[in-house]
Amino acid sequence: MTHQGLCATLRLMKLRTYPDPVLLKRSETVENFDEELREKVAQMWDLMYDKGGVGLAAAQVGWSVQLLLMNPSGSREDRDAERVVVNPKVIKSWGKEKSEEGCLSFPDITVDVTRKKGLRLAWQDEHGKQYEEDINDFPARVIQHEIDHLEGVLLVHRMSPVDRIRYRRELEEMLASGTTG
Ligand code: ZN
Repeated sequence: MTHQGLCATLRLMKLRTYPDPVLLKRSETVENFDEELREKVAQMWDLMYDKGGVGLAAAQVGWSVQLLLMNPSGSREDRDAERVVVNPKVIKSWGKEKSEEGCLSFPDITVDVTRKKGLRLAWQDEHGKQYEEDINDFPARVIQHEIDHLEGVLLVHRMSPVDRIRYRRELEEMLASGTTG
């Protein structure tokens, strides 16, 4: 991609909200770990912190690849907690825990979601370097939420029938307003 083309892509990077179709697609595996990818990752970090998120999947900025960012602390200063997770694979998981979850693509909605308590994850970073690590508790919840995004699975698919009724108006309004892309 030319420099000009890259700038155009970056300028267009904005948060996609439900029911944008890109959020419902399965994302493609990343094969090229190039400068363009790292530049987009930098833009995604800015967007995630701007919006007060703890995680962001590439699909949420209209980029349909197996890539997500997370920082469970939500603090830009806490660089050690930042992870760029590319092509993640859950090797095994354990336990169960129900807790509240929100999503930048569903503003104003918070629902209880049951997730695994922990998991062993294999992934690559933005340079293609391979990692494998056990992740537990809140960071495990964040990663499971973001991996859902890579599969096109959203909070609306995870919410209980009670929450679906509770948030019926919000969901109808989002559907009525159409895509944001
Ligand atoms: Zn989300």
